[in-house]
Amino acid sequence: MTHLVNDAAEFADQALDGLVAAHGRYLRKVHGGVARATETDAGQVAVVIGGGTGHYPAFAGWVGPGLAHGAACGNIFASPSASQVYSVLKAASRGGGILLSFGNYTGDVLNFGRAADRLRTEGVDVRIVAVTDDVASAPAAESDQRRGVAGDLAVFKVAAAAAEEGMSLDDVERVAQRANDHTRTMGIAFSGCTLPGADHPLFTVPAGKMSVGLGIHGEPGIAEVDLPTADEIARLLVDKVLFEKPQDHGRRITVLLNGLGTVKYEELFVAYRRAAELLEHEGYTIVDPEVGEQCTSLDMAGLSLTVVWLDEELERLWTAPCDTPAFRKGAMAERKRVPDEKQDDEIAGIPESSAASRALAGRLAGALADVHRMLVDNESYLGEIDAVTGDGDHGIGMVRGARAADESAQASAEAGAGARTLLVRAADAWAERSGGASGALWGMAIGTAARLLDDQSVPGQDVAVRATSEAIDAIISLGGADVGDKTMVDAAIPFRDTLVAAQGEGLGGAWAQAVAAADEAARETADLAAKRGRSRTHAEKSIGTPDPGAVSFAKIVAVLRPHVSPS
Ligand code: ADP
Ligand code: MG
Repeated sequence: MTHLVNDAAEFADQALDGLVAAHGRYLRKVHGGVARATETDAGQVAVVIGGGTGHYPAFAGWVGPGLAHGAACGNIFASPSASQVYSVLKAASRGGGILLSFGNYTGDVLNFGRAADRLRTEGVDVRIVAVTDDVASAPAAESDQRRGVAGDLAVFKVAAAAAEEGMSLDDVERVAQRANDHTRTMGIAFSGCTLPGADHPLFTVPAGKMSVGLGIHGEPGIAEVDLPTADEIARLLVDKVLFEKPQDHGRRITVLLNGLGTVKYEELFVAYRRAAELLEHEGYTIVDPEVGEQCTSLDMAGLSLTVVWLDEELERLWTAPCDTPAFRKGAMAERKRVPDEKQDDEIAGIPESSAASRALAGRLAGALADVHRMLVDNESYLGEIDAVTGDGDHGIGMVRGARAADESAQASAEAGAGARTLLVRAADAWAERSGGASGALWGMAIGTAARLLDDQSVPGQDVAVRATSEAIDAIISLGGADVGDKTMVDAAIPFRDTLVAAQGEGLGGAWAQAVAAADEAARETADLAAKRGRSRTHAEKSIGTPDPGAVSFAKIVAVLRPHVSPS
């Protein structure tokens, strides 16, 4: 339960504002997140991290000398958008290239990847290391599919210490990759967590049981077992992590015992005492362990154990000094503050447009308003089907995106924007506010369609078909999903193919047929096992429930039907 909340939709922003107010010595707010408030040597590699809100001290609590140069901060449990990440990258860059590191989640991979691509086109060298320490999230043979949890800290810390030493981007990337290859985490949970403003938990664990391997967004665990003693829990965690030890492992390790939200420090110490005994009994020397909250999950009760196998270089980097709001080691010399910059949040001017294009823009704004209304009506249903195997946020995320697009479109229309300008801005607003995998994909799709329009002419039906089909191609190429992977692509491809095949019958009729195809395909996703996104770790469990992204896709194109050929 979250007790201190004003408006749930504003919670993440207000928490970030408060963090910056409390830690102005370390942090300055930039669009999309935070950057260091203190000066960094020119030419130093910048380490930029980030992810959803709800995991403090991950991620904004780890920004400061010796650790990250900036953190992109998304909404609750949702990835920051590509434009947010991009703006944090720009603010953090010191001219030595950038290492971008984050937990391996579909939404983060998409958004951080797009931001990196955009900066690369400007000539900045950006490398990516996605953290994959959670051993419960995929089998060892697919370790690159694993998620990032508390091991994030080890990877970020090592990379940032290397940057602080003045290593090149190649070397910073190499040590970050090596730290990730040598880090393993296993977690357990006793109870679920409740999103701010929600009246029931995102998921629950039955009384007297614990869930083994539960993810930090409530992704279901690998087993539910009777609640053992603290010592037995310590043994289970140590056994599971050691079972996964890397091939070239030494005898020196560091250990993170991480509280997930409401487990008290004394309880963590009780468990740590036994974990350390067991690890030492196995012949390990523990260097600079951390017991406390590193990567939390709102008010979830649970803990995780991370082991990082150290070599000489990793040990030096792990133990190097750092100074951030939530994580400090050793002593660092006082740094000068960066001068306050003016934030560049001004909305650029609206380009000239024709009356005809403004009329089309008005219709597009009306269509977005209808999409927004429909999603509000379906918010809880979409959340429920996402909660079966995902994180339950599909309804919230889609409403947040559609509301932002709707508001942006109304504002653009009032300001006299043409069709292209209105739709490009609405697409950015959707991606920025929605977060998650689907937010990135919808933002990309709408933005792609918009780029076939201009602010002067009114396109014919062929352009509408081409814009729609290119938008869907963009979803496929950005997300990399195939037919049968149980994603929105399963509804989008039949929709596109039917629309293209039937376009000779006129746009209205073709669209109606395509809507029917998408609707049927979305319902048929219930028969499939998930292979993409968060749900992939619980493929079998997803059978019987349709894919939330496919369902929302079919509903959106259905709502658009009267708008594509108004009478
Ligand atoms: P998240 O998975 O980040 O929580 P949402 O819950 O908003 O995001 O959206 C989940 C939906 O996103 C899934 O039901 C699926 O349709 C879609 N999705 C996830 N990954 C992909 C992908 N790689 N390609 C296409 N669609 C995807
Ligand atoms: Mg989700």
